[in-house]
Amino acid sequence: MEILLYIAIVLATVAGMEFVAWAAHKYLMHGALWVWHEDHHRPHPEKEGFFEKNDLFFLVFAIPSAASYIIGLNVAGWFWLTFVGIGISIYGAIYFLIHDVYIHRRFSWFRQLDNKYSRAILRAHGHHHAVTEKDGAESFGLLVVAKKYFGKRSGWAHQDRKA
Ligand SMILES: [Zn+2]
Ligand SMILES: [Zn+2]
Repeated sequence: MEILLYIAIVLATVAGMEFVAWAAHKYLMHGALWVWHEDHHRPHPEKEGFFEKNDLFFLVFAIPSAASYIIGLNVAGWFWLTFVGIGISIYGAIYFLIHDVYIHRRFSWFRQLDNKYSRAILRAHGHHHAVTEKDGAESFGLLVVAKKYFGKRSGWAHQDRKA
């Protein structure tokens, strides 16, 4: 039955990462590490290449994930930590697919995706991007969306999405 425990650890980590990502976004990315996040809020038309400085955060979050794999697979009695690493990896993949691909369209996948939840995610993140400064933004989470972003017809959508 250990497998159920490991599945529970993975699921709890994925859920917990939404909170970690929210807190990191609100207090670090819009705080001391704004210099890395700024170019995600202020798209520069002259910007060259595929990457933003903001992508450095994928490397930052790879550190706890890698550490979890290394310790979990090598230290006796810490095997469960491997599943924390898997949970962090899964959240990173979800974040990339929803934030970078679906919302910001860095790849042309999921263009057909359209339902109440996906529209709410889009509106909430659109509100986040409505502020291009370090201070004053809202909606720092990704998957947990405030109720007010559901069900409205008006608001941010792909057609008026800027960046
Ligand atoms: Zn932001
Ligand atoms: Zn964004």
